[in-house]
Amino acid sequence: MVENTITRGQARTYSPVIERFIVGDEGPSKFGTGKFWVAEDEVLPKVRDWMVEPGTTRMLWISSPYDPGAMTSAHASALAVIAAAWQAKAPIISHFCQRSRRDELRADEESAIDTGNWEPWKRRPYCIEPLPGDAPGPQFCVYTFEPFRGDRGLSVITTPVLAASMVDALDDSVVPPKLRDHPSSSLAAEGSSPAYVIKDMPGKGKGLVAQRQIRKWELVLVDYPVMLAHMGLFDVVGPELREDVLDRALRQLPEEQQGEILSLARSTGGETVEDILRTNIFGVELGIEIPHLGLLPIGSRINHNCRPNVFWRYSVRALAVEVIAMRDIEPGEEITQSYVPLGLSYEERKEDLKNWGFTCTCPLCASSPKQRAASDENRERLQDIYHELNDSAAGKSNLTISTIESLTEELESLVAEENLEAQLLVHYSAVARAYMRAGELDAARRYVELCEYLWVQYAGEEDDYLAGMHQLRHELNERERKATIDGRYR
Ligand SMILES: [Zn+2]
Repeated sequence: MVENTITRGQARTYSPVIERFIVGDEGPSKFGTGKFWVAEDEVLPKVRDWMVEPGTTRMLWISSPYDPGAMTSAHASALAVIAAAWQAKAPIISHFCQRSRRDELRADEESAIDTGNWEPWKRRPYCIEPLPGDAPGPQFCVYTFEPFRGDRGLSVITTPVLAASMVDALDDSVVPPKLRDHPSSSLAAEGSSPAYVIKDMPGKGKGLVAQRQIRKWELVLVDYPVMLAHMGLFDVVGPELREDVLDRALRQLPEEQQGEILSLARSTGGETVEDILRTNIFGVELGIEIPHLGLLPIGSRINHNCRPNVFWRYSVRALAVEVIAMRDIEPGEEITQSYVPLGLSYEERKEDLKNWGFTCTCPLCASSPKQRAASDENRERLQDIYHELNDSAAGKSNLTISTIESLTEELESLVAEENLEAQLLVHYSAVARAYMRAGELDAARRYVELCEYLWVQYAGEEDDYLAGMHQLRHELNERERKATIDGRYR
């Protein structure tokens, strides 16, 4: 009798008994013509069929493919199949397991317990589950990796699946040379000097100040996170457990990094590490757009300004943050980023910045109520223009070519007045589409090209972030193709 279902736990209890029956083998060369891949929950029905079929061989090859979503484990499913075969008194059985992918072991705590191998993590991950009374949620574990990007460490609080998904990114070889060798990079050769210095900023703790001129689009800083924490930790885990994992994530790091973290600004009160995280966060992602809070030893010191001079981008693949100048920066000027979306009104910014626990005193926010009102009006008008262009592009209205021209001119002067150049990409995409819709393809092409240039400046060259750019080009190509066909039959 073969049981219909067999859990990993059951398989494990059988394993000592069946071990001596197992003829282990491995290597893709052993794959014969009969190879098939099955999902774990299909293994037993398939193996049952295989048992009753007369065949030339009773050799069974098992390969459990890597599947982070379903937490498949080669080890566990192999045991399940072998246990089933043993129960069914199969005359001969051999098993083949695909050699576990380097990151698969880390996806599955059970496999790691079997092997006692926690690599690449420094030690056994420390895992918590939400307590009864907490909101239901996934299991979170603390993973620490060292050395990371030089002689540093990295602590990550996340789910086992996401931890597994980031293993390849831990390797220094994934960092592109341009980032690796940048003077600010912890992987760069000694003796290179970065474009900024860290200084005490009155009323704002520490900040970064340019120590030479920095050109627009110049890469100012390359930084690698020292701590990453899954956002879910703050939603589903109670304060005590949270404090426990955050402290552990800190203590597992090398002493130097602990000091770096503890010297970052605090603002909200409460538990130290959580306060630091909330005050200095960089929103980053792991896996497929799963939000995490990140702490960066240097990047986290960049203060806020509603008219910032840098922006940053994050590479999931290289676990690196690039800080890039969005305009020329003069020596002695503070390097600033915006913690809130660009283009908001004074009140909206004030509301959003409450999350960071400070009131903005940047020149724009500190200007007279009259100046602030004028700026708000500009920003509102920009939004209106954007919507007008978009509506026309979507066919909800029909702007003439000359109206598109004058709206574009107006938006360019508003952007310049408000220092919102970083929003040109969004606005130019709307302009390009409005022109496409109006059949003015030469102008559309010009703006598509402008967008492509800006897109690469902002998003970098990793293809994952360029889908929107390719989409825009595709739309233009379609319009041009259609125009050619229409022209031919006119
Ligand atoms: Zn401000």
